[in-house]
Amino acid sequence: MSSKHNTFCRVCEPSCALIAEVENDEIISLLPDRDHPVTKGFACHKGLATLEIHQDPDRNNYPMKKVGNGFERVSWDEAAAGIAEGLASVREKYGANSIASYTGNPLAFNSMAGPAIGSFLIKNEIRRNFSSGTQDCTNKFAGSEAMFGSSTIHPIPDIENTDFLLIFGSNPRISHMSFLSIADPMKALREASKRGAKIKFVDPRVNESVKGIGEVVHVNADTDVYLMAALLHELDATGRFNAEIIHQHGERIEELRTFIANYSPERVASVVGISAAEIRQLAEDFADAGRAAVYMSTGVNMGRQGTIAYWLLFMLSFVSGNLDKPGGNIYSQGFYPAAKAGKSRNDNPFFESAFGEMRKIRGSLPGNLMADMILAEEDPVKALVVISGNPILSMGGGEKMQRAFEQLEFIFVIDIYPNATAAYADYVLPATDMYERKDINICGLGLQQQPFVQYTDFIVPPKAERKPEWWILARLEQAQGFGENAEDAGIEFEVQPPLGRLDHMLRQSDLSSTQLQDMPHQTAVLPIPQAGRFYAEWIQTESGRVDCCPEIFTEALGLCEEIFVELEAENDSQLKMISRRTNYMVNSWFHNVPSLKREKQQTNPLYMHPEDARARNVGDGSEVKISNNNGEVLSSVVLDESLKPGTVAMTHGWGHQNTRMNVARKYAGVNANSLLPTGPGSYEKLSNQSFMTGIPVDVEVCG
Ligand code: SF4
Repeated sequence: MSSKHNTFCRVCEPSCALIAEVENDEIISLLPDRDHPVTKGFACHKGLATLEIHQDPDRNNYPMKKVGNGFERVSWDEAAAGIAEGLASVREKYGANSIASYTGNPLAFNSMAGPAIGSFLIKNEIRRNFSSGTQDCTNKFAGSEAMFGSSTIHPIPDIENTDFLLIFGSNPRISHMSFLSIADPMKALREASKRGAKIKFVDPRVNESVKGIGEVVHVNADTDVYLMAALLHELDATGRFNAEIIHQHGERIEELRTFIANYSPERVASVVGISAAEIRQLAEDFADAGRAAVYMSTGVNMGRQGTIAYWLLFMLSFVSGNLDKPGGNIYSQGFYPAAKAGKSRNDNPFFESAFGEMRKIRGSLPGNLMADMILAEEDPVKALVVISGNPILSMGGGEKMQRAFEQLEFIFVIDIYPNATAAYADYVLPATDMYERKDINICGLGLQQQPFVQYTDFIVPPKAERKPEWWILARLEQAQGFGENAEDAGIEFEVQPPLGRLDHMLRQSDLSSTQLQDMPHQTAVLPIPQAGRFYAEWIQTESGRVDCCPEIFTEALGLCEEIFVELEAENDSQLKMISRRTNYMVNSWFHNVPSLKREKQQTNPLYMHPEDARARNVGDGSEVKISNNNGEVLSSVVLDESLKPGTVAMTHGWGHQNTRMNVARKYAGVNANSLLPTGPGSYEKLSNQSFMTGIPVDVEVCG
């Protein structure tokens, strides 16, 4: 006899509601929840493919210990004791500072893991922390902190009411939208387009979302900041700044004006790759639209100036009077007032280090310094804790990262898969997947178009000896002698995680996890975001005003001009590589899902415009070497007219030769991240965001 259970997907931000059918403790089907009050039956095929991940025979099922060149199964007691001993040994030899951590993106979708990780890091005095955030989004935290006084304020575009939506570096049909939580963004965009809203996609590709919905503004890769600056320049020059709003709610507007004065449409046109007339028209359309909204995503985040871009994006919104206005950009509160939780309390977050002046951004050091810190002669990292991450494939450096990992004296990994990083581990610990743990949808907090909070129980008991991260870390703490707190951490309860923090947060909306469990779909639908409250209630700067040109940007603004001059002087034939996402992978995971390995999805080719290909005697299917100062990879070419000439594209997250995941190893692909820069100078100092797009590369036919 089967039973049906409400749950939700935890792969990306919308947290699409699902119905799991269970028989004899096995999930026999996973379907979209058609009656869910918010996600309304939407779930993409990646979300539904999580059932294959749940059932995958290659998953980590037992604690494993490295023995020789292989791994052997050990008990949880042996693993905990071995890890406690490994960490103690490194600590004794090299000090607490020699232990570092890396946490991956799935933890953003795991409400129970965060506090447990915090506890483990604090008790172990692990201060050198890295995260996947510096691979795709920390620029947004740094930008909001500087403009709005809080790293957790990200006003979302009011798609339902806007007349004009200007989207930079986003392809919702493929990747959904980050920092905007909406189950079916294409439906929302289609509806906006149908009622007459203009939608412009600023992108070096005519991406899959454009057709039938909007138009592309076909820019050169990683030049968005100059287009944004020129749009602002034009708005100012034509008297389209909203003086009243700026007077009421802004400060340092003259400093913004001084910066944008340098970037007229005429000056930036050749660098951005569109005409001055097109830029002027875009500025005019935006300003005259009535209600205009802005949005940007990873295509810009991952460039060299993501923080500056995020700032200019919101300056477009603010100076045109569209911030905190229906149809513009609105802060979405959700079940907990996260705006206040992210308030910055430090005017100067930078400190001196062996690698120069540096900061942490929401706890993370620059990921692009991880290999350097391991390979350093002085005070090197000697042990690494990796939780739900795959830095070997997710970060730049390729071979350098592998070399660094070989130098580590102790590594332990907590993950659902024996991924490429786990191959280097001394211990690999099996984590539960999303259907084997309790949770609430915390990741969309402050970003939801229609705020809601949903609770899910574990749908089936964990298979084999898989355990949730909070249990594993509490167990390790206990083995390390931090036992007096193990009970508080919930270790006694086996399958009852500590819900205290979540209940504390839920109380802000007069809710509790127990109440949620009794609600239809285990979901509380919350009030939709309201315009008109931002300046009075949410902004967190000391003055209560939008900082239109934060002082912390001074150095970056100088660099912005240096990069511009460099781009002006660049050879026209220089190719720039961008990252192309697909519907068949999510970063470095989903690579072991057989149903996603369709004919054209079995490797990661180089996409190239026919003009660029002809100039290099390259044809469709040619085997080529893609190289630069950072490394080289071999792949085959797929001709692609959607690219702006001069732009080539590859999908990151491939290169699974060294893994125990059989499907991923069979279709290994190449690690495009080998072509990315690493080390000092390879990340944005304001945000620690790695440079990952707009990367200069050369392409030549093999042999
Ligand atoms: S859109 Fe994201 S959350 Fe929804 S089903 Fe797909 S992967 Fe899951």
